[in-house]
This record gives sequence, C-alpha cells and structure tokens, in this order.
Amino acid sequence: MFDLLKLTLREKKWVTLALLATLGVAFFTTVFVNLVQPVIDEMFGAAPAVKIEARTDSPAQSASGDIRTEAKTRILDPLWKLLKIEKQDIAQSLPWVIVAVFFGKGLFTFLSSFSMKAVGNRIVKRMRDDLYAHILRQSSGFFDRATTGDLMSRLTNDVDRIQQAVGTAMSDLIEESMIMVGLLVSVFLIDWSSAMVVFVITPLAVVPMIAFSRQLKKQGRKSQERMSEIYNLIHETVSGNRIVKAFTMEGFELRKFLKKSWRYYRINLKLAWISSLSSPFMEFLGGAVAAAVLYVGSQRVSKGLISPGDFGAFLAVIFVMFTPIKRLNRAYNTVYQAVACYDRVQDVLKVIPEIQDRPGAAPLPAIEGRVTFDRVGFSYVPDRPVLTDVSFEVQPRQTVALVGLSGAGKTTLVSLIGRFYEAGSGTITIDGINIRNVTVHSLRSQIGLVTQEIVLFNDSVRANIAYGLDDVPLERIVESARAAECHDFICELPHGYDTLIGERGGILSVGQRQRLALARALLKDPPILILDEATSSLDSESERLIQQALNRILKNRTTFIIAHRLSTIRSADMILVVDAGRIVESGTHDELLRRTRGIYRKLHDLQFPEEQENGG
Ligand code: ADP
Ligand code: MG
Repeated sequence: MFDLLKLTLREKKWVTLALLATLGVAFFTTVFVNLVQPVIDEMFGAAPAVKIEARTDSPAQSASGDIRTEAKTRILDPLWKLLKIEKQDIAQSLPWVIVAVFFGKGLFTFLSSFSMKAVGNRIVKRMRDDLYAHILRQSSGFFDRATTGDLMSRLTNDVDRIQQAVGTAMSDLIEESMIMVGLLVSVFLIDWSSAMVVFVITPLAVVPMIAFSRQLKKQGRKSQERMSEIYNLIHETVSGNRIVKAFTMEGFELRKFLKKSWRYYRINLKLAWISSLSSPFMEFLGGAVAAAVLYVGSQRVSKGLISPGDFGAFLAVIFVMFTPIKRLNRAYNTVYQAVACYDRVQDVLKVIPEIQDRPGAAPLPAIEGRVTFDRVGFSYVPDRPVLTDVSFEVQPRQTVALVGLSGAGKTTLVSLIGRFYEAGSGTITIDGINIRNVTVHSLRSQIGLVTQEIVLFNDSVRANIAYGLDDVPLERIVESARAAECHDFICELPHGYDTLIGERGGILSVGQRQRLALARALLKDPPILILDEATSSLDSESERLIQQALNRILKNRTTFIIAHRLSTIRSADMILVVDAGRIVESGTHDELLRRTRGIYRKLHDLQFPEEQENGG
C-alpha cells in the first residue's frame, strides 16, 4: 500500500493536478448539498427573506437562545458574499447558482478522473516495461522454474489491476475522503445534535459493511485463482492442440475445462450473491439511520430550533454521504487487491538474474575459438550432479562431437559455454580467457546455437534468418539460406523471403524449420558454433545435402555437434563420449572404434550392424 502510494507520488505533475481537481470536486459537492437549505427556505418562503436580512448584522441574538433561527450563520454565507448576492436575491439567483455548481462539479470531476487515470497508466506502463525487461534479463534457470501462464498473468492481469487501483481507486480514496470532510463539516454546522445522532448510529452500519467486504475479498481472491487455472488450461490445450487431437482427448480436455469453468461460475455466483446482498442491506441500514434522523430532526424543527431547509439539507447530506462511504469501501477493496498484485509483480522484480557481468568484466575480444574445460562440475539442483569433472581442450576450428545416451548431460555441457548456466566448479576458458570474467553479451555474440527445439518468431522468413543482426543485405541472407538448403523451399512460399511465419512456424515442416535455424546460425557467422541435435529432425536426404554444406562451414570455426546419428560425426576431429555427466571416452572415430569394449563401439555396432566385422 505504501509502495503503491510512493509510486503514485512519483508522477508529481499529474498527481498535483488530480489533487487540485479533487479539492474542486469536494468543494462543489459540499456547496451542492448546502443549496438544499436555501432552496427550501427561500423558495417556499419557510423563512421570510426580509426578516433574515434584518437580523444578519446581529448574529449574537440568535446565539443567545432566540427561538427564531433565521439569523443563524449559514455555511454558504461567504459564498453569497463572494458572489455579491444580497439575501433577498438568493431565491432568484438559485437556478443560476445550481447550473454553475453542477458545471463546476462536472469540470473538476473530469479533471480529477482523467489525471488520476493518466497517473495509473503511466505507472503501469513503466511497471510493465520494467517487468518485461527484467524477465528478458533473467537466466535460463529462471525460465526452467517459471511457467508461461504465470508470467503472462503477472504481466497482464496483475499489472492491469494495479492500474485500476491507481487510476480509479486511489482517486476515489482521496476524492471521497475530501468530500466526506466537506459533508461532515456541513452536517455539524447545520445542526449539532442531529449530527450526533448520525455519529452514534453510523458505526452500527460500518460493522456489517466490513464483514461484507471481507467476504468479498476472500471470494474475490478465490475467483482469481480459478481464473488462472482456466487460463493455464487454455494455454496448454491451444499450444498442445496437436497432441490433444492426436490422442483424441478433446472430450477429456473439454470436461476438464467445464469442471473448472463450473467452479469459476460457482465462485462468481457467490460473489454476486454477496455483492447484491450488501447493497440493499446497507441501504436498509441507511433508511434506519434516516428514520432516526427524521425523528430527531422533526422534533427540532417543530421546536423551531432549526428551519425546514436546514432539515432538508441535513437529510440531503446524509444521503449524499452514502456514495462516498460506498466508494471508499470499494476503493479500499480494489487497492487491497492491487497490493496483492503489486507483491506478485515485485516477487518477479526482486529475482536477481543469476548470471550477471562481474564488476569490471571486460568484453571478450574477437576470439580464435580454443575452448578448454578444466574439471568442470555442474548441477541444476544441489546434490544432484549433472556434470562431474569434465575436462577437454578443443583447438580453434576443430569439430567436436558429443555422443551419449539421452540424459547423459550433453546439452547441459554445451550450455555452459554460452553461460546459459554458470559452471558450478572448475573453469571454462576461451582462448585462455575465463568466460566468467567477460561480459555475457560479448561472449554470446560470438556463439551460434541451433537446438532441436526450433524457435521462430512471428515475423518474415527474412527477419527470422537475420534475427539479432541489423541491416543485413538480402544477398547474404540468401547465401546462408542456400548453404542451409532452405533457399528452394523459401522461394516456393507465397511471398518468398517476405512470407510471414506464425509464432511457432506453423506453415513450415519441422525439417524446414530446422534448416531455417541453421541458416540463422550461419548468417551470424560465429567463431563458435553449437549444433545440439540440429539435424535430428531431417530426413536422410536433406541431412546428406546439409552435411556437405556443413562440412564446408565447419572448417572456419570451432564447432560442437551433438547428434544421435553417428554418420554425421565420423569426420569430427574429436569425439567425446558422455555418460552420466562424465566424459568416459575421447578420441577420433577410428581411435574409439578400436576399443572393443568401449561405449562408442557399442553404439556404433548398434547403428551399423553390417560394419561390425570391420571395426576390430
Ligand atoms: P542430454 O542433452 O545428454 O540428453 P541433458 O543435458 O539435457 O542431457 O540433461 C542431463 C540431466 O540433467 C538429465 O538428467 C536431465 O533430467 C537434467 N536436466 C536437464 N535440464 C534440466 C533443467 N533445466 N533443470 C533440472 N534438471 C535438468
Ligand atoms: Mg540434449
């Protein structure tokens, strides 16, 4: 709550305008309710205007217990003086005054509403921008833990609620509090003892109101949770629609949805019940208060202690006061919810990216590509090592192949090179420079990465290939597309290189997507290239075609290849066999085949049974 207020106050210009406008609204509202008295007294002649005038200059008389109350000082007296309206002219001027008052109230309501909404939007824009930037800066570990649905709901839902709170509720809180002050002052100036009645009875009404709002809050939170369940389910089935269809699980998913939807509906019905009940209940209490006031008031009028106009004004104040009370209550609820949302946003903002540039980290100079692992160990979760004691050295422009069963730790090993995760122990150096001591940006900009899971962005083919690079001429894009064997199918797309691909590359086959990703990596032309099962989705024909291109490309850079098909890695300068996080064998294809009991030999024999006799 305090944090939200601090954020709000940072928008000084708009907040000042809003506060001033709010003062205006409170002023005109107060004037408005106090107009009821002259309307009744002057227009219906309940108090002869002439008499009032005759006594205005001696107010002391009325204070001394004079039964006649016409000479009482009224809250609006300064206003009449200011407007230079004589007492006897008040009746005549009233229509104009009323028009003016409503105009003023409207104008200031507009100003305060608009400026507070502006504040809300500004705060929220900044918060959403910060949050998104912050999320983008996070390390891979963060994304392993986070779910898309959760991050999305924080970026949209939570932030929107904060906007509501600041844009509407905060202004309501300020505005209605000021109006309340104005009304309270009026009520006491009009008639002290009737006001006291209100003060005794009102707390009775506040207690049930608190109970109602507490229930609303509780059920409201539940409703939010149910909504996010639904949100997650939709996300799952939309992104996994293929699997849903393939397993003909539409019915199952629909039933799951209907169940959650039913629970959401039930909660909302409960909410509707509570909120529908609260309003008439509160109104009934209001009626009771009014009746009490009526009772006390009518006695005081008949005794001549107050004028009928005073009494009318008094009733008007009581009724008008209900709106601010209701709004204050609502605003309080909204702000309360927003505080919860604010905390959820702060939870994310507080996460410090695990991988950051060290203080004084220098950029990595242009590298040759000698990569050295020295007794590197790593684990995702404490005490469950994924890599142990990994040591090897790759010379510039060599090709290293990593072989091993799935889950052995190959992907993990190569992700350490780009510092997607930080090595737990040991050191990794490139050209003799410890990668921990260089800036992450300079390191990653010299590494190309193609993974099995291809990420294409909702943009043109051309932009997807040139992702991360500025102003690349089309010729160079075509060149790398040719190298990755994708030029031909790109030309067959409806708009060639300008064809838009859906967010997940929907119009392309998996093999085509993989070749696009390859083209992307080639265009970047990095000194270190990592191909993590980058050709595993290709048919043998495309793989053979790409292999030729790859062989050419690999000559100029240090390359790490992870592949299951051993045919693709035969020509590697070094093959590392990874098993349960350790490097258990290393050498060239021929060297490794010579170890008759080796893992590589075993894998090889499984894939090429006909060559078994040649191996020994
Ligand atoms: P490979 O690429 O050889 O198939 P990985 O490097 O992907 O193997 O995984 C090695 C081990 O680390 C596996 O046991 C896997 O379950 C675990 N692992 C992989 N990624 C994560 C992660 N993000 N969080 C926790 N454990 C992981
Ligand atoms: Mg892997």
